[in-house]
Amino acid sequence: MIQWKKWFTGPGSCCLCDAPHRASSWSAVWERVCPSCRCRLHRIDSPCCPRCGRAGIGSLCEDCLTGPGGELERNVAVLQYTAYPRELIHLYKYRGREHLARPLAEMMAERVFSAGIRAEAVTCVPLHPQRLKERGFNQSERLAQEAARHLGLPFIPTLKKVRSTPPQSKSSRWERMAMLEEAFQSSDWKRIAGRVWLVIDDVYTTGATMVECARTLKRAGAQRIYSATLAR
Ligand SMILES: [Zn+2]
Ligand SMILES: [Zn+2]
Repeated sequence: MIQWKKWFTGPGSCCLCDAPHRASSWSAVWERVCPSCRCRLHRIDSPCCPRCGRAGIGSLCEDCLTGPGGELERNVAVLQYTAYPRELIHLYKYRGREHLARPLAEMMAERVFSAGIRAEAVTCVPLHPQRLKERGFNQSERLAQEAARHLGLPFIPTLKKVRSTPPQSKSSRWERMAMLEEAFQSSDWKRIAGRVWLVIDDVYTTGATMVECARTLKRAGAQRIYSATLAR
């Protein structure tokens, strides 16, 4: 009886930091996050910019009012890009903590669903083949696969990066847009055309990457394009 109870209620561990945390493995993702991690994460709910998901603003933010990007219907993000999400993404991308993809993608799927976004297929922001070789894996691809699984949608890696571009660094939104022009290509237009797409990436910085991905899908005949990122 005691064994059974233990199996049912833990003690488990936090899905982000592995600290002891009482939650069964089938609890909703936010219940599997320990209080200490929860304190260091700032979830973006409303109010946020209805176009790009920027936190703390209930109407279109300045970027969205002035910038291009009509091809991207809407971006939603789970977390404000503060120190702890930055650290988690770093651990996931560069320190071999690849299992973090699961809880992080589950948070993204939950956010997409609660925002009322109903896509028909999921894809990811691709890496240039050279960068992929250096890093060994595409962080966005794994997040997209996991998010798609949670949403019950097909994951179709249809975008390709055909031109290498420097990392985001300190360029402005406009410089980024110019740099990324025609940097992506899509294959398989038969599967793209007429569908509602969800594009996944880890972080939304200037939005230039997502807008360019949306443009590429739109050129191939996609009906509507949404995007989701872990942080914004
Ligand atoms: Zn934790
Ligand atoms: Zn905005």
